[in-house]
Amino acid sequence: MNDTKETLQIEQGPIRPPSEAQSLLIRVTRNCTWGKCQFCHNYLKTRFSRRTVEEVKREIETIKKVHDEIKGISLNCGYNGTINREVVKFIYKNPHLYGDLYRNTAAWLYSGGKQVFLQDANSLTIKTADLIDIITFLKETFPQLNRITSYARAKTIAKKPLKDLEAIRKAGLSRLHIGLETGFDPLLEYMRKGVTSKDHIEAGSKVKQSGISLSEYVVLGLGGKKWWKEHALETAKVLSMINPDFIRVRTLTIIPDMPLYNKLVSGEFSMLSEEGIVKEERLLIEHLEGITSTFMSDHILNLLEEVKGTLPEEKEKMLNTIDRYLALSDEEKIIFNLGKRMHYFRTLNDFNTPFRIKKAERTLQKIEEENPEAVEEICHNLRGRFI
Ligand code: SF4
Repeated sequence: MNDTKETLQIEQGPIRPPSEAQSLLIRVTRNCTWGKCQFCHNYLKTRFSRRTVEEVKREIETIKKVHDEIKGISLNCGYNGTINREVVKFIYKNPHLYGDLYRNTAAWLYSGGKQVFLQDANSLTIKTADLIDIITFLKETFPQLNRITSYARAKTIAKKPLKDLEAIRKAGLSRLHIGLETGFDPLLEYMRKGVTSKDHIEAGSKVKQSGISLSEYVVLGLGGKKWWKEHALETAKVLSMINPDFIRVRTLTIIPDMPLYNKLVSGEFSMLSEEGIVKEERLLIEHLEGITSTFMSDHILNLLEEVKGTLPEEKEKMLNTIDRYLALSDEEKIIFNLGKRMHYFRTLNDFNTPFRIKKAERTLQKIEEENPEAVEEICHNLRGRFI
């Protein structure tokens, strides 16, 4: 490779789960094997392709080279190879010398340098032997790794023999993130997820059996006004059968790049209000039975990010938080919703701070002077900034 330090690069995919913000990203495939979900905008116009094992290994070697150079900078600066704030600052302050790969690797090492996320949307689609080869090489190159995770489609996992998943776990894959989205079959079909609730249960149960940690993602609001109850109840039922290690929720937000946008504009799909989505979330949590999952709301798109906890112990605590919101007057709910979307509040506790409330009230007043009906739509559009 003839790249100089500042242009040295590896290929990166567009997304990773929020919980992998501190992970090193290694792209093993490009895009999604499916690419048809109506609420997705990441991979609809892209073609899926596999990267060769050699290509991926070459990039891992490149990162190792950069890793060693950064350690060298630390040694030269008298920090014993520790990647501290000063080393990171040095790299960031010299972009003419150190490009993106140096900055990303330094940030990764600063945050511990122990976690890797394999991109893109369905890494388990590559041959088991190849995936094991890549993971083994990664662990040999960076022996400090303690977590290697990836996204996978339920359909792909459902077809994979359990012994393959066990071998992948033994090689070092610690966690899989699966987009369940909903457990309600008509909604899975409407959203063109290409997976049934049966596939989800089979895939999720198999991942659990293999010993790989499992995160299942649910889209709050996906049922819209028509199917919100069915979405909540059937999703709770499927999750209760799988008992994933983590249930992670994120709120439906529709942007023009998504096929669902046309259905929204034509009126075929009706979005739930902010309050409606909270009610749906309550129904979902209420019906999670007999499981020990950790419920996470680790996305800025969620109105009540503080609704999180381990089941079954913290179920009441989560429901109580939701009920605190639902007990607000209609006017207070609108002020909170808007304030949250404008970042005046992060949690319900911030709704006790007079100057924040004042700011939200002033914004609401301005909106209502122009169009009192527009608040919900404005909240939705503000969410769109985080997609
Ligand atoms: S499977 Fe995931 S990444 Fe692929 S189109 Fe559906 S939502 Fe998007």
